[in-house]
Amino acid sequence: MSDNAGKEQGLQAGTPVPWRGIWVAAERTGERAADVTLELLAKARVLGDKLGAPLAAVLIGYHVDGLAGELIGHGADQVLVVDHPELASFTEEAYGGVLAGLALKYRPEIILAGATLMGRAYIPRAATILETGLTADCMDLDIDPKDRVLLQTRPAWGGNLFATIVCPLRRPQMATVRPHVFKKVLPDPARQGEIVSISPEAEWLEHRLRVVESVKDDAGDECRLYGAKVIVVAGRGVEHEKDMALVKELAGLLGGAVGGTRPIVDQGWLPERLQIGQSGVTVSPRLYIGLGVSGAVQHVAGIKDSEIIVAVNKDPDAPIFDLSTYGLVGNVGLILPELIRQIRLEKTGRVV
Ligand SMILES: Cc1cc2nc3c(=O)[nH]c(=O)nc-3n(C[C@H](O)[C@H](O)[C@H](O)COP(=O)(O)OP(=O)(O)OC[C@H]3O[C@@H](n4cnc5c(N)ncnc54)[C@H](O)[C@@H]3O)c2cc1C
Repeated sequence: MSDNAGKEQGLQAGTPVPWRGIWVAAERTGERAADVTLELLAKARVLGDKLGAPLAAVLIGYHVDGLAGELIGHGADQVLVVDHPELASFTEEAYGGVLAGLALKYRPEIILAGATLMGRAYIPRAATILETGLTADCMDLDIDPKDRVLLQTRPAWGGNLFATIVCPLRRPQMATVRPHVFKKVLPDPARQGEIVSISPEAEWLEHRLRVVESVKDDAGDECRLYGAKVIVVAGRGVEHEKDMALVKELAGLLGGAVGGTRPIVDQGWLPERLQIGQSGVTVSPRLYIGLGVSGAVQHVAGIKDSEIIVAVNKDPDAPIFDLSTYGLVGNVGLILPELIRQIRLEKTGRVV
């Protein structure tokens, strides 16, 4: 495949089949489409309408075809299904090979995927086989109508500025986007679309890995973070490790999840998967409470879509106050136990 990719490019004059259409590489969470896939479909629908191009979802795996209806309801005109026993376990070689093989055959002009553990593993492989560019961790996507080029915006230079990256000469244009950057739309169960089953070619499935056993990782905390309506974030202003128990207690009282800034993760007080920000996860809860968080751009990149931001910081000039809905100037060590006391009082009518 790799040898032919350049010749297949088709941006050169005289190439008969143009690259056309937008694809979203779908991902699952259990028996449902992953949120990031539905969010990408919503965004891709807008991009596709700007381009006047059809939108397809690509479903790779084994016994996955049940998801096709959900993908159509969320905006896909077509679902390309590659359902094969060899794809029952995820391997980046086979999934990357299938996606690249499909792309060479059907020639989409854009492929979008989630910047998830899985997307980060196999999308670069597909891009390498296709000999095209890939912009990882985009925060925005748009179309330049002049030349149908995908404008891929992502943080650059340590998050201090945003760069818009284009891939004018190669196709497909490929980008990954983290969960919760875009908003999904309500599904339309009456939407009609086409489901196309495709038998993979043997070479697409080639992989050197043999999955002996799959063990479920305890990613419970991370899952809670993604869907949480309330997130309590510990920043460096939470000065003592023992106070993390109070942070978790506050989150528990509010039915929420706990996250952290990078210094908290670097100190090993929370696992890396709970880091929120540019190099962590992006969240959009109804209520974000930042405890001793300064509001560095790299952290704000992951929280800016939160509905209500409450900040506790002893520095009245901390940048987090510029974007917070409510600000409490004071010491986390004093305010956090008091918050817990007041919420308990509110909930139970008595102080415990
Ligand atoms: C390429 C790159 C990627 C990065 N990615 C991320 C990322 O994904 N997520 C992330 O979070 N960071 C990231 N960072 C780090 C980022 O630049 C900041 O250093 C980090 O967000 C700061 O975390 P903080 O707010 O907890 O700590 P600080 O910036 O040190 O702020 C601590 C705040 O707590 C206040 N404070 C201190 N003591 C108390 C107290 N007792 N009571 C109340 N307030 C107190 C201080 O006034 C201060 O405002 C990244 C950096 C780079 C260069």
